[in-house]
Amino acid sequence: MEELSRQHWLHDLLSSLEVGIVVLDRHFKVEVWNQFMENHSNLRPSQIIGQSLLDHFPEIDADWLALKAQPVFNLKTPVFLIWEQRPYLFKFGCNRPVTSELDFMYQNVTLFPLSSLTGNIERLCMLVYDVTDQASSQLNIEKLNNQLTAMSRIDGLTQLFNRRYWQERFQSLYRLAKRRDSSNTAMMLDIDHFKSVNDTYGHQAGDKVIQALAQIIKQQVRETDLAGRYGGEEFAVILSDAPAEGALKVAERIRKVAEATEVTHEGQTIRFTVSLGLAEFSGRYQNEMQWLDIADQALYEAKQNGRNQAVLREL
Ligand code: GH3
Ligand code: MG
Ligand code: MG
Repeated sequence: MEELSRQHWLHDLLSSLEVGIVVLDRHFKVEVWNQFMENHSNLRPSQIIGQSLLDHFPEIDADWLALKAQPVFNLKTPVFLIWEQRPYLFKFGCNRPVTSELDFMYQNVTLFPLSSLTGNIERLCMLVYDVTDQASSQLNIEKLNNQLTAMSRIDGLTQLFNRRYWQERFQSLYRLAKRRDSSNTAMMLDIDHFKSVNDTYGHQAGDKVIQALAQIIKQQVRETDLAGRYGGEEFAVILSDAPAEGALKVAERIRKVAEATEVTHEGQTIRFTVSLGLAEFSGRYQNEMQWLDIADQALYEAKQNGRNQAVLREL
């Protein structure tokens, strides 16, 4: 009688815990299945006790579980499975309205040995902790961090890389160019007489022109090229795998499309032109800034020669 009453309150105890409790034998046959497990799996103890856990949960890989259980049985040590490595062991739904972006329950799981009267380990106990809230806030923080990182690299007006990040990428690209035998050409672009665009049509109109040129650059260069807003109305692009002649063709295309583009602002039509300076990579450059400086000198020459043109320069 005493033993029966003891079993009764022990059962109540296991039922009220907000933790999954599963006892398995060496063949992963289920011996204990508490209320938590029943609630989330919709399997009553009578439906699973005495049967293999693996038959009911195809998401659990048999070999993997055997590997994890090995030290529990053989070395009598506990094993911890954390959600960062494997989001869940049991694919349970997630019924949280607040964290609705997660559609399953994240779990931490502990496996520990249960010794028999003889001291042998014939069973293991599995504790399944619901860590969905923890995982959700952790994942949100990571998402926010990624967004912040992306934002810190992108220029708001043009969506191109900003100068600081462009420079960072340019530096590593330069180091790569030094080791590799491919042709890369640097291109600097500057809108002609941009001050008069601002003066005539206003700063907002000027911004639209800057955006229009950024759009043209994005359309005319390749995904692998490095394009950034270098200054107010100045852009820098490193054309990868592009020797000087090829780069000049790209430059000429950008120049022509810009010349033909009409930007409308408050009913008015604005036309603009650009000047471009190019310099092909050479092993003779001392550093990346010298390379860029030659492209800048080419740009200066294009301006001196009357603007709306592309000029190539060599060291
Ligand atoms: P040039 O043909 O020699 O390049 O003549 P420019 O008038 O374009 O001369 P410069 O490049 O020196 O002038 C750049 C002007 O661009 C100065 C500044 O007022 C304007 N500017 C810089 N950043 C922005 C911006 O974000 N928006 C707008 N609307 N104007 C900008
Ligand atoms: Mg200008
Ligand atoms: Mg300028």
